[in-house]
Amino acid sequence: MPISPALIKEFQGVIGAEQVFTEDADLQCYSYDAAVLTPVMPALAIAPTTQEQLCKCVKLAYDNDMPITVRGSGTNLSGSTIPQKAGSVVILTNRLNRILEINEEDLYAVVEPGVITAQFAAAVTAKGLFYPPDPGSQSISTLGGNVAHNAGGLRGLKYGVTKDYIMGMEIVDFNGELVKTGSRTVKYVTGYNMAALMAASEGTLGIFSNIIFKLVPPPKASKAMLAEFDDVNKASASVAGIISGHIVPCTLEFLDNNCIKYVEADTKAGLPVDAAAILLIEVDGGHPQLVEEDAAKVMEVCRKCGSTNIRIAQTAEEKFKIWEARRNALPALARARPTTVLEDATVPRSQIPAMVAAVNEIAKKYKLEIGTFGHAGDGNLHPTILCDRRDKEEFARVEAAVDEIFDVALKLKGTLSGEHGIGLAKAKWMEKETNRATIDFNLRLRRALDPKMLFNAGKKFV
Ligand SMILES: Cc1cc2nc3c(=O)[nH]c(=O)nc-3n(C[C@H](O)[C@H](O)[C@H](O)COP(=O)(O)OP(=O)(O)OC[C@H]3O[C@@H](n4cnc5c(N)ncnc54)[C@H](O)[C@@H]3O)c2cc1C
Repeated sequence: MPISPALIKEFQGVIGAEQVFTEDADLQCYSYDAAVLTPVMPALAIAPTTQEQLCKCVKLAYDNDMPITVRGSGTNLSGSTIPQKAGSVVILTNRLNRILEINEEDLYAVVEPGVITAQFAAAVTAKGLFYPPDPGSQSISTLGGNVAHNAGGLRGLKYGVTKDYIMGMEIVDFNGELVKTGSRTVKYVTGYNMAALMAASEGTLGIFSNIIFKLVPPPKASKAMLAEFDDVNKASASVAGIISGHIVPCTLEFLDNNCIKYVEADTKAGLPVDAAAILLIEVDGGHPQLVEEDAAKVMEVCRKCGSTNIRIAQTAEEKFKIWEARRNALPALARARPTTVLEDATVPRSQIPAMVAAVNEIAKKYKLEIGTFGHAGDGNLHPTILCDRRDKEEFARVEAAVDEIFDVALKLKGTLSGEHGIGLAKAKWMEKETNRATIDFNLRLRRALDPKMLFNAGKKFV
């Protein structure tokens, strides 16, 4: 649906003509994201550069009944930033990208939503502090997108995920007014915990215009290990053994044989291509001696559970190689076929062997190639289906396989998504995980904060 020239002029009056995009070539860039879904063109895209401009733009769009999709870097894997309704405006946060404060005394930082995650983490490190959430997309994802999807990462097991670092924020509501929640203080009980509500809100409740993040002191020592297994169940038993042995590694990652083969072909990192699975493990802490002891305990558990070989990184280069292998899992799989369908089924940790076995059965049943990797310590697996979307017959099998993967995850008392979100891609399964009453409850909440249901219409709860 085309937008009226008069309304375009109004937006230009608020933020300047150079921040308003109306040409198809520009709009096309905002019609898709990292999900494997059909692109939908917005009617308009705008890039405010100040909080004040953002407020005015939201009011203008809302008053004119324009569906609003806010977009960070568009790396989400659930179609969260694909505009769903005709006449949508996409609000870009990439020019709201200032780090406003890093407070070394009180251990917090204040940022605009378009700051790139890795750039923020590096700025914090330069001040001798630590911001742990580290999604695989951190070199391009934004902090606003991380909050809206409650992004996790490799360090989730010990350090938690994005929600665990939000101290407060300012949110632009549907009237273009600024709503404040949280504080720079460690404790805060003055209002509802709206920051918690905003984590994983997927752009459906309002737009964060700045965020206060907690920072922590960095660990002083760390040890990285790679444990090989000839049986996936032995790898899973090691995960359970490490956790029940009360060792909390900062990272505990799983790669199955398919992933190992693709990563090794790609990176030549010296991975054991015959292993049924590997665990990549890192322990860290404030005292080198304790870290050594934890590393020794982890190796003992893995050996007892049947690890055929354990390598401990002796140098920074060896450690880098171990994590490079993990970081390359998705890119290596993605290079294998034209389309990569990356899923996010998450189960209680004890159910990892059952989930991995089920995914392998599903791969056989539907004659598909699936590589599974993920955050084993969190029960968060990423079964990754390698296919070609243009092949309709194959893609129908992929869709049936994804249905079954979710069925199994839910049967194992798991969840549809550990970190990638619901968006458009998974909205149809929400009732299966919850029930209609839950969805209606969430929709009532949403309507209270967005009476015309214009914020990211058609996503998450439908
Ligand atoms: C290669 C790759 C690896 C990945 N690895 C991980 C991983 O390890 N862990 C993980 O959790 N995810 C991962 N992801 C998924 C994705 O990167 C994350 O969900 C990330 O948080 C999205 O950030 P973004 O800036 O790209 O947000 P976008 O994709 O632009 O937006 C995501 C959501 O946030 C909303 N949003 C954005 N800004 C705001 C704002 N200011 N106010 C309100 N809502 C807003 C959008 O409307 C949308 O609903 C990965 C993706 C890729 C492609």
